[in-house]
Amino acid sequence: KAKQSGRNTFQLYTLELNQALKKRIEIEYSLRHAIENEEFLLYFQPKINLATGKLCGAEALIRWQPKDGPLISPLSFIPVAEETGQIEALGRWVLGNACRAANQFSQLLGKPFSVAVNVSPRQFRHCDLVSTVEQVIKDTNVNPGCLELEITESCLVHDTPAFIKTLHDLKSLGLTLAIDDFGTGYSSMAYLKDFPVDRLKIDKAFVGNLENEPANVAILKAIIALGHSFGLKVVAEGVETAYQQAYLHGMGCDELQGYYFSKPLPLADFLLILKK
Ligand code: C2E
Ligand code: MG
Ligand code: MG
Ligand code: MG
Repeated sequence: KAKQSGRNTFQLYTLELNQALKKRIEIEYSLRHAIENEEFLLYFQPKINLATGKLCGAEALIRWQPKDGPLISPLSFIPVAEETGQIEALGRWVLGNACRAANQFSQLLGKPFSVAVNVSPRQFRHCDLVSTVEQVIKDTNVNPGCLELEITESCLVHDTPAFIKTLHDLKSLGLTLAIDDFGTGYSSMAYLKDFPVDRLKIDKAFVGNLENEPANVAILKAIIALGHSFGLKVVAEGVETAYQQAYLHGMGCDELQGYYFSKPLPLADFLLILKK
């Protein structure tokens, strides 16, 4: 009996594996066309300054809109693009479009408006990120102070001298750097002293259930204090309720991003918010 169920489990497992692999290959294949056909869009999610309650920037988030199908979340294609190397072309596209959007937003407001772009670990490792970003800044003529790069902690575990130099070289282009999904990685602290970053973005896992998780409140307080002691701005992601906003304000968090204020919006809708 045990043997029998063992075999069934194994079959189920390989079936699931095959399906996952098949889906991956499908995505890789259609991504190739999507890059050629420019089937991507950037959405923009507002960032709010907690002290003033005002809009203080945006994060650019990629969406895939196939010609004949529903919008696809980055969670299902960024990891594939990362594995196959397609992220390098995609990443350049995102950077260019985010800079053009920053120009458009700044022009509309009559003052600099910052747009943050997510950068995958592979963009650090396999392409010359510094010269790519430098070229994009030149081509789009963006104010480099209006560009922020978001790096995840998994990028930062490679705290080699070469990696730290890359961060300094990026900073010397005049842009700002943020650590995304902070608190979910491993080396959450030691590296802060060597890394020239400007912002910590607290992962939404600690924010979303703040109401009924005293442990998360303790973590939030600790991250905010840590960030401030390094002179960094601290941003909370995934703020969904008035309670969470008020609580974070009370804890001295600097900025927030989340559905409570706004979901990520298509360019045209974001422009409407800016006009208000
Ligand atoms: P992220 O950089 O941590 O972005 C925040 C994610 O949280 C976004 O998901 C956003 O829509 C979502 N979010 C914002 N507010 C709330 C909220 O109040 N509640 C909840 N439940 N979620 C909220 P999205 O747009 O699906 O992006 C997922 C991830 O995909 C991003 O996480 C980022 O790591 C990656 N990604 C998105 N765009 C790009 C890109 O252009 N390049 C790269 N390399 N990665 C990207
Ligand atoms: Mg991000
Ligand atoms: Mg991210
Ligand atoms: Mg995040």
